[in-house]
Amino acid sequence: MEGPKTRGEIRVATNQSPPLVGHNVVTSDAALVEAVIRHASAEVVDDLAPLGAEAGTAEAREQGILANENHPTLRSYDRYGNRVDEVAFHPSWHWLMERAVGHGLAAAPWESESPYAHVRRAAGFLAWSHTEPGHGCPISMTYAAVPALRVDEAVAKEWVPLLASTSYDPGLRPVAEKRGALAGMGMTEKQGGSDVRANVTVARPTSVDGEYTLHGHKWFTSAPMNDVFLVLAQAEGRPENEALSCFVVPRVLPDGTRNQLDVVRLKDKLGNRSNASSELEFDGTLAHRLGDEGRGVRTIIEMVNATRLDCVLGSAGLMRRAVSEAAWHAAHRSAFGGLLADKPLMQNVVADLAVESEAATALAVRLAAAVDDLTDPHEAALRRIALPLAKFWVCKRTPAMVAEALECLGGNGYVEESVMPLLYREAPLNSVWEGSGNVNALDVLRALAREPAALEAWISEVGLARGADPRLDRAVDDSLALLGDEATLEQSARRLAGRMAACLQGSLLVRFAPPEVADAFCASRLGSSYDGTFGMLAGSDLAAIAARTTPAR
Ligand SMILES: Cc1cc2nc3c(=O)[nH]c(=O)nc-3n(C[C@H](O)[C@H](O)[C@H](O)COP(=O)(O)OP(=O)(O)OC[C@H]3O[C@@H](n4cnc5c(N)ncnc54)[C@H](O)[C@@H]3O)c2cc1C
Repeated sequence: MEGPKTRGEIRVATNQSPPLVGHNVVTSDAALVEAVIRHASAEVVDDLAPLGAEAGTAEAREQGILANENHPTLRSYDRYGNRVDEVAFHPSWHWLMERAVGHGLAAAPWESESPYAHVRRAAGFLAWSHTEPGHGCPISMTYAAVPALRVDEAVAKEWVPLLASTSYDPGLRPVAEKRGALAGMGMTEKQGGSDVRANVTVARPTSVDGEYTLHGHKWFTSAPMNDVFLVLAQAEGRPENEALSCFVVPRVLPDGTRNQLDVVRLKDKLGNRSNASSELEFDGTLAHRLGDEGRGVRTIIEMVNATRLDCVLGSAGLMRRAVSEAAWHAAHRSAFGGLLADKPLMQNVVADLAVESEAATALAVRLAAAVDDLTDPHEAALRRIALPLAKFWVCKRTPAMVAEALECLGGNGYVEESVMPLLYREAPLNSVWEGSGNVNALDVLRALAREPAALEAWISEVGLARGADPRLDRAVDDSLALLGDEATLEQSARRLAGRMAACLQGSLLVRFAPPEVADAFCASRLGSSYDGTFGMLAGSDLAAIAARTTPAR
């Protein structure tokens, strides 16, 4: 082989993959398109195509990187020494937020007439998260606040139309002057996050019915520039186990003054760096009670459940972006005399990543479809069991999956410009917040113990594929057998949740995915051929699976 001779030849970069831009993130994702058609319609795919095209542009990808490189900053005081508690975001954050809200990814589906509004929004959220995951946090919280706010008709009337707006209108102003609003939540305190009953923030009733002042703190409250927060606090004067209540806390009061809410500092986080996650202090913060005193968990759980759906969607989005980059690189990079994409072992790795991504997407969109059917008892029972199952399993699978995708790019994958480090740092987060892994696995046990309809819904859902694949049938039977051993149930909660979630994924893939995808999933995730890492599939048409996942421009 002849080497470079001139300075110009030395500087030529050859055999490097072109950037993965200019493709449609929605229409080039076969698993997503098929899931949307299945649970909604082809028209919904068409409706999402502009979002998919924008999410794949070089500009969107650049804005995502800039929003992460330029972290939000806290300004506590103005130049005159007045306390302001403002967080400044980079223009790229606003660019991303404006489009996410504009594409209807915040609370728009709750006010929509479409029977497929939540599937549309879910698929859009998954696809748009390819641009940058951090700004998904306020978008999710805004989406999720609505079912909780609807506990109180008057409160819902004030806030829901603004949260459902497709106009992004940032800034601390009275909400009556705004074209759109965003919501957040404050549950976690220093002494306990999962165990919210340990909250020490106190709510003191004022002379106005339903109005309180809050006194205490929150250890994590993301997006503190949002317009309204759902906050947990102990109603003063109530017995200890009947005091935890939910409150609506506006950032700005109707007269234009700022509600007292000290932003103590912003967290220095592993990932999710475009987003601001703050510590707050309350001392006389005005709040309106949402739901009855003592029913705080019951009220806010509606919001938590909806954010759990977004954790699944967000993780599925991270997986899809990661496998797209991996497959794209393999399709353009050569080694040892041929394209990586043609090497049998690389086909195995990419196919295995694709199977994981397809399974995550199928389950995530199925869950969103269950939200489109709020009155159906089967769908309600399925939401109850399948949300914590999917939150546990899909989010838990993401870090290992993204790490493997990163390795497909070799050394380039370890370098910031490839975007893989951003995905890698983000990957554990969806499992940590909104109920960490153990908490969701234990929530599965709670659902099984208290709501018999939940188990029935799972059995009937996986039963739709009964007889199609013996490995799936066996895995379903094994899961049910695990339930029988009450003595070790808590200790085995992760094993049970993981198995039950994988059965749901398997039943969807067996029914709807190409046979080679379903076969690879059942063999490796449900059968005996799983060996602990990716790229160990056997006997399936791996080249076809890898080819299906490679984005086309
Ligand atoms: C970037 C970021 C942003 C966040 N934003 C917000 C926000 O906007 N609003 C908000 O309220 N919170 C927010 N959080 C907080 C988050 O929801 C909590 O960190 C999470 O719920 C866990 O609570 P904790 O940190 O108190 O951990 P702990 O509750 O102390 O849990 C520690 C570990 O113990 C496990 N565990 C807990 N109970 C049990 C049990 N019974 N058996 C076995 N294991 C158990 C948990 O799974 C976890 O692994 C944010 C967190 C992060 C990282």
